[in-house]
Amino acid sequence: MRTLRLALSELHAATTTELVVDRAREHLTLHVPDVVDDIETSKIEAAEVSGNILRLEGVEAGARVVVAGRVPYSPRVHGLSRWVDPVDGLAYVVASGALGGAARFVAAEDGPDDRMATTIAVSGGGGTTVATGDPVESPGAGPRRFMSRIPLAGHQLGLAAGPWRSITDGPVRLLARQSLAYGDDFSALVDDSRRAHAWMAAWFAGSPLGGTAYTQVLLPDPPWLAMEHPGCVLVSERLLEVRDDVDRARRVAVLAHEVAHQWLGNLVSPRCWSDVGVFEGLAELLGQLACEALLGPAGAAYLERRRTAGPLAVLPSPADARTAGLAEVAGPVQHAELFRAARDKLGGAIFRARLRALCRARAGSTASAEEVWAALGLAARTPVAVDLPMVMDPEGRRGRARRWDAMGELDPATAVRRVRATFRASRPGPGRVRDALAVVHDPRTPPAVTAALGAEVAPLLGPSLSPSGGHG
Ligand SMILES: [Zn+2]
Repeated sequence: MRTLRLALSELHAATTTELVVDRAREHLTLHVPDVVDDIETSKIEAAEVSGNILRLEGVEAGARVVVAGRVPYSPRVHGLSRWVDPVDGLAYVVASGALGGAARFVAAEDGPDDRMATTIAVSGGGGTTVATGDPVESPGAGPRRFMSRIPLAGHQLGLAAGPWRSITDGPVRLLARQSLAYGDDFSALVDDSRRAHAWMAAWFAGSPLGGTAYTQVLLPDPPWLAMEHPGCVLVSERLLEVRDDVDRARRVAVLAHEVAHQWLGNLVSPRCWSDVGVFEGLAELLGQLACEALLGPAGAAYLERRRTAGPLAVLPSPADARTAGLAEVAGPVQHAELFRAARDKLGGAIFRARLRALCRARAGSTASAEEVWAALGLAARTPVAVDLPMVMDPEGRRGRARRWDAMGELDPATAVRRVRATFRASRPGPGRVRDALAVVHDPRTPPAVTAALGAEVAPLLGPSLSPSGGHG
């Protein structure tokens, strides 16, 4: 059982995580916030903090750990962030546990398998607050509380607090900053959200978390188009801009992808980071199917472009990739093609029935990639992968490495985006590939940079270079 208390102020958030450990363990390792003020334990033999890591030994069943600290806000949407709208000076707080963000504001295990019953209590922040879990009525002006119906992992925690404008359309609620114009583009986004949600709810036959409302929070400049958390999906305002059919199809596919994650990714979640690919692939496929169904031929150009992806890059040390730039190494598009082939083989109805059964059987817990494939009644497959060969070039490496070093200070998703853009802007030729590979193999390179460069370089190396995995 976990209780996360956040007191939001202008300068920082005071955070307290209270954990009651359900079963005895020899060791338990928790990520803790940068500034820890107090740690309290009971039924635990030894506790030691070094940096952001709290190591606990001899943990009895029913042991209690309370970690209190302070979290400075990140300027970007990663972990806990606060931003002031330059238009009207209003302040908003957003939290995302995804992509390693949880380690910034909650004492959480290092891994996606830390699912436990979670209550989030938030004070301060003003206006409207939404978070993963169902709001609990509290009399008076106490903290706003959210209690999960199912156990949640740290990476699934999401929160938005501030003077949001709230628009509800059926089961879908949209939060947007006050200054955002409420015009035709806005109502078109609301409309697509409702349609994507309805299509997915029909596909899965029901709502993933009972009556929980589905909330999307529009953010001005996050480093991704959308990020899912149970019942609290963060969405970029870039999805408001639709110039042509491709933009529209991307929007529908992205919104549907995030709705699909409410079942595959949230209701059932990956056991290890290396299992993320199957969940991304299934959400990607379902997003594409929703796009096909809802837009018909108008979605074809986007889907054609989206489905042409290079082989999946295998990083020299996948453990380093962990949560950094995960979308890049998870290979959603490549995994989606495998699941599309599986669906063609089984037939759409059986494919759907087996995934629904998986969601029922494992609701509130995790599944490995093998278990997901087994639920489909098929042998596990992995996308064609390219191992990145070792290239050493100390001269070429040094100058570039410095530039990538600085990327480690950014949140991983932004670093991935910038690294990829930088690589694409550099002069094509064998030189940049060689330099990129040298950086990839340098152990000092931040994981997000490794992931981003790996994803850029792998398709350029072509399939002739040591393909592994053996599946198509
Ligand atoms: Zn996804």
